[in-house]
Amino acid sequence: MTQRPLTTIGFDADDTLWQNEQFYRLTELQFTDLLADHAASDIISARLLEAEKRNLRHYGFGIKGFTLSMIETAIEITEGEVPSNVIARILDIGRDLLAHPVETLPHVRQTLEALSGKYLLVLITKGDLFDQERKLAQSGLGDLFDAVEIVSDKNASTYRRIFSKVGDGPERAMMIGNSLKSDIVPALAAGSYGVFVPHELTWSFEHVDEPTEAPRFRKIGHLGELHSVIEALL
Ligand SMILES: [Mg+2]
Repeated sequence: MTQRPLTTIGFDADDTLWQNEQFYRLTELQFTDLLADHAASDIISARLLEAEKRNLRHYGFGIKGFTLSMIETAIEITEGEVPSNVIARILDIGRDLLAHPVETLPHVRQTLEALSGKYLLVLITKGDLFDQERKLAQSGLGDLFDAVEIVSDKNASTYRRIFSKVGDGPERAMMIGNSLKSDIVPALAAGSYGVFVPHELTWSFEHVDEPTEAPRFRKIGHLGELHSVIEALL
């Protein structure tokens, strides 16, 4: 019996299944407004990005780490003079971000419904555990997945481990996502297919060059185009 070339499909969550970065951008605007008396918004944003990158190894990805980085940036920008009511506002806008509504992207539900039952579907996402569980529950998509993996980082060994545990190994798996750096390049390195679905807003930290030479690299305009990529493999 010949083996099916593809049995397992991994999906990124933020900005692949539902909107995410747009809520961070709105929060960042509120944050730069709070500190407008101290510095121009582009300066504050640049300092915030530096703090986020510096803190990733301590806090990991997600809103709680982002909130702490906003507080750290406020202390820096005000040279230690930030009033406690501003810190309180930063905590408020961080909590608001943890409660933002879940807006699924076009074609998501139909695509998952069409694939569910035919392939093992795995949600693979970084970020705060509570926040990702909340978003999955509110999206109403949870039942379409065979497994959910909330991980601290996404590298080749992450994909090898998950696709071996949930599926039949990375060679018979595909990863779909909006981040070349987190979703596509490491999945290709693990031996899987990597299907890039660009989102108009992607955090600058996640940008790397497209691996156009990789034989298992694919790129689609939206999730509705995924079925034709899969059919072409069969
Ligand atoms: Mg994403």
